[in-house]
Amino acid sequence: MSELHLNLIAGQWVGAEDTSENRNPSDPSDLIGVYASGGADDVARAAAAAATAQTAWFEGGPQPRADLLDRIASMIEARAQEIGTMLAREEGKILPEALAETRRAAQIFRFYAGEALRVAGEALPSVRPQVDIEILRAPLGVVGLITPWNFPIAIPAWKIAPALAYGNAVVFKPADLTPGTAHLLAQIIHQAGCPAGVFNLVMGSGARVGATLVADPQISGISFTGSVPTGRGIARAAAETMKKVQLEMGGKNPMVVLDDADLPLAVAACLNGAFFSTGQRCTASSRLIVQAGIHDAFVAELSRQMQALRVGPALAEGSQIGPVVSAAQLQGNLRYVALARDEGCTVIGGDALGGTGYFQSPALFLGADPAMRVAQEEIFGPCAAVIKVDDFDQALTVANDSAFGLSAGICTGSLRHARAFKHGVKAGMVMVNLPTAGVDYHVPFGGTKGSSHGAREQGRHAVEFYTTVKTSYSYA
Ligand code: NAD
Repeated sequence: MSELHLNLIAGQWVGAEDTSENRNPSDPSDLIGVYASGGADDVARAAAAAATAQTAWFEGGPQPRADLLDRIASMIEARAQEIGTMLAREEGKILPEALAETRRAAQIFRFYAGEALRVAGEALPSVRPQVDIEILRAPLGVVGLITPWNFPIAIPAWKIAPALAYGNAVVFKPADLTPGTAHLLAQIIHQAGCPAGVFNLVMGSGARVGATLVADPQISGISFTGSVPTGRGIARAAAETMKKVQLEMGGKNPMVVLDDADLPLAVAACLNGAFFSTGQRCTASSRLIVQAGIHDAFVAELSRQMQALRVGPALAEGSQIGPVVSAAQLQGNLRYVALARDEGCTVIGGDALGGTGYFQSPALFLGADPAMRVAQEEIFGPCAAVIKVDDFDQALTVANDSAFGLSAGICTGSLRHARAFKHGVKAGMVMVNLPTAGVDYHVPFGGTKGSSHGAREQGRHAVEFYTTVKTSYSYA
């Protein structure tokens, strides 16, 4: 029987009423661990502990916060191999990608160690004599952080690090499928000397832990990353207690390839954007919008390279595409492959590969029409719809024909078209001659339309969500 991994509440490792298991999607017979699965009482205790600890955490000033974040970054680096291996084993990302994500998490903590000391207000003159005005940044208080499985350390890092840097206390609820990586991160935060109650881990289901967190009146803000239906429900529920919410949700990200694109570069960008990380990225290039003149050559080369990708176990040397995260996700992907055929596309790839785990070959849906469901709905797997267009104007119209607006890309040699795309596309992130996925950690991340709601994540812009403005007037 595996050791039970506990929740961290008020500085103590504690059990819960229930337990859950995580299994390896490359080989589901591999039981990775058993984890406490909390409920409403655990959330209430964690929120209360956080509320008690938060004032001293903020009033202790920025230096102890910066020092803690710096220590966390160093400890993640020191344990990167262990964390990356856990991540690959429970999420299915190939080991090089899992290690890169782990190193990214360390960079994020180090970045916010610096930001703890740089958070700045403003000083303004008053309309009244001898009165000074200061606009201060105050922490929100206690924040609830709810994360998805597909980046099980980078996304928690880009929420936990700014939350702590700006003086908040945290209740962290990780994704049900990836408790192992979350637990390692919580161990590090605890061992790095985070004061009791400032950081709490409550693992458990979305319906029990997530929903209770959103309803808890002791919590002032919820930062959520996940699917649109869950995000919509959170926004509705959070309104009941007037919580601030930040929602990062899905994408159906367009990548435009114009006739004047550098063909090898465009193919490389689309191969990476559509299929790497098994397509399980909110920024995946899932709509390839290709101009007629380059279409056939582009499709021929992309299909050739896609079919040569080695799909295999996440920890096996040489694997380029790992498994899909779960049996349910694989079934969902295969239903979309069947739907693509029903909607009239020619499908290349998209087969269940059998073997020990949830493996599928990457897929292209050729001849897609912008209105088809396979061109509109987020699949969240290694599947891309290819839409042929006549010219730049049509490409831009198709790119914007989506309920989402997270990331968008264009491959072109024309400065004029690149510029028109940057200004005309409705997306939060725009890439020129780069994959739609693949972002830096020190700049804003987020989208428009159905993809995002509330302040941006990452970089200095994170201060907008994790602090509130306080206007102070003084007469002397
Ligand atoms: P999900 O919405 O199913 O779950 C996300 C988190 O919400 C999990 O921790 C889950 O337990 C929790 N949750 C579920 N129901 C809840 C409820 N009623 N109340 C509170 N919390 C609840 O999403 P997922 O399957 O884990 O992740 C995939 C989705 O995440 C995709 O749509 C993807 O595009 C999106 N995503 C977005 C970004 C981004 O930054 N925009 C990044 C990564 C993933």
